[in-house]
Amino acid sequence: MHTLFADLHIHIGRSGDDRPVKITASRDLTFEGICRECVDRKGVQVAGVIDCASPAVIADIEHLVETGEMEPLSGGGLRYRSELVVLLGAELETHEEGGGLSHHVCYLPDVPTLKRFSADMARKVTNMQLSSQQCHMPANLLAKEVLSREGLFVPAHAFTPHKSLYGSCAARMAEMFEEEVLAGIPAIELGLSADTSLADRLSELSGLSFLSNSDAHSLPKIAREYNILKMPEASFAGLRAALEGRGEAGVLGNFGLDPRLGKYHRTFCEVCDEVVLEPPPTFECSRCAGDKVTRGVLDRIVSIADREESRSPGHRPPYRHQVPLEFVPGLGSVKLNALLNRFGTEMNVLHEADEDEIAQVVGSKIARLILHAREGRLAMSAGGGGRFGKALPKADDQLPLGL
Ligand SMILES: [Zn+2]
Ligand SMILES: [Zn+2]
Repeated sequence: MHTLFADLHIHIGRSGDDRPVKITASRDLTFEGICRECVDRKGVQVAGVIDCASPAVIADIEHLVETGEMEPLSGGGLRYRSELVVLLGAELETHEEGGGLSHHVCYLPDVPTLKRFSADMARKVTNMQLSSQQCHMPANLLAKEVLSREGLFVPAHAFTPHKSLYGSCAARMAEMFEEEVLAGIPAIELGLSADTSLADRLSELSGLSFLSNSDAHSLPKIAREYNILKMPEASFAGLRAALEGRGEAGVLGNFGLDPRLGKYHRTFCEVCDEVVLEPPPTFECSRCAGDKVTRGVLDRIVSIADREESRSPGHRPPYRHQVPLEFVPGLGSVKLNALLNRFGTEMNVLHEADEDEIAQVVGSKIARLILHAREGRLAMSAGGGGRFGKALPKADDQLPLGL
């Protein structure tokens, strides 16, 4: 068994021929740039690269295989410089008959299967070069396409308001997927504004694994959220075993943003330009008495939950909250870089380094805030409407839970 750090949702900004893949993503987010960042700075051991069905990215992958930088694994996936397992993914947008849009991550076992998938999808997708494109079919059909190719199908950021399974399509998975398809879906991705305790208020998720992935659009954001996976082998087959929880395999840990810091945690009034005041669930704003709002993930989950209290099944690992350094009040880029230079990685600063050592680099006030963040004692105001939440400098600024 292998116990590995995995971030399974990383976007590509540009292909090697310098054409954009994800317009909003940063230029240095190339296939090889991602691999290097995972190995050299992040300590990520399994990377799901999510724009691999783009023909120009396939060309990049084939080039890396030809030069020997990457090698195909017998259990599926590729190995980069003997240090990183790369899984071949594609995120696609599906369209329900009732109009709901949702994103899904599809992992394909190997390059030949990926190439066939890409060619077949190119008939449905307007521009296959670009990331997260609409494939003009309902999620059930896309899932069938993926499952019939021995791929893995995972609903992405499952609760976000605009484009997700629960956020904009359905209150129950059975409304979207046929029974046999549903049986083939091993996991959902929680997204930055939700965590395990929120998702486990839906009893239908008890049998599924949860993934906490970064959805990174730039190199520094890789591993902002990540998972610890226990896999019988470091490969695509190993990922399948982990997500399906076969034998000893499984998801051993989820690490992610405190959901209050996520961009869609609470319902947000577009008129008042602020998060709503009422406790969840609310989809109206009492300040302006309007309903021009962006629904919050917390509000949505509370409104569709079939459990009053969260109840996690025995296989569910702990979800460890983390507050990335960029959220720590008063910690600008100069001090942040000083910390990275001293401790190597953000993970070390967030979870390992002791307060005195941190204080030597950035002073005692910020060191204390980082420790408070580590202990979950930092006060926060919730994000919403596409804006991240904020960590607050004083513990007595604590707002009621969820606000
Ligand atoms: Zn997405
Ligand atoms: Zn309002």
